[in-house]
Amino acid sequence: MPAPKKSLAATALLTDLITGLWTTLRYTFKPNVTVRYPLERSVLHPNYRGILRVDDDLCIACFLCEKICPDNCIVLEGEKGIGKGSKYASYFYLDHARCLFCGLCEEVCPVDAIYHSNEFEGATYNRADLVHDLAILHKGHAIVHYER
Ligand code: SF4
Ligand code: SF4
Repeated sequence: MPAPKKSLAATALLTDLITGLWTTLRYTFKPNVTVRYPLERSVLHPNYRGILRVDDDLCIACFLCEKICPDNCIVLEGEKGIGKGSKYASYFYLDHARCLFCGLCEEVCPVDAIYHSNEFEGATYNRADLVHDLAILHKGHAIVHYER
């Protein structure tokens, strides 16, 4: 597609250059909107969908999160606990490498046991580290600090 032709006056008066310089000048004196990550961290919206966590004290092993997950990230097993009708998750794995962060598991959980944290530093050198077991899902994962 050919570039639009500029008028001779626009070329002679350097209007593109002046427009660009004017834009730079206008933003030079405005406050910064960026933060010096990782020294500073932005305040995230409360609805931010970060790395998933599970409160195993609340989980009743109902399997709803496993069933609704569109990407089969969750695998769990339940066992009978003490008391009539009580169940708990004896085994719970969640693969964050497959997770779409869609929030469906959080939405469907009847006891708010699974939820998105506002943690976003989930990068690792190994994909296997993205599979979190119940202990990691409860406590949160260890953050890897990268150095040059
Ligand atoms: S956020 Fe979505 S994709 Fe990720 S585990 Fe939950 S249901 Fe599955
Ligand atoms: S939906 Fe909630 S209560 Fe049910 S198995 Fe998942 S985390 Fe546990």
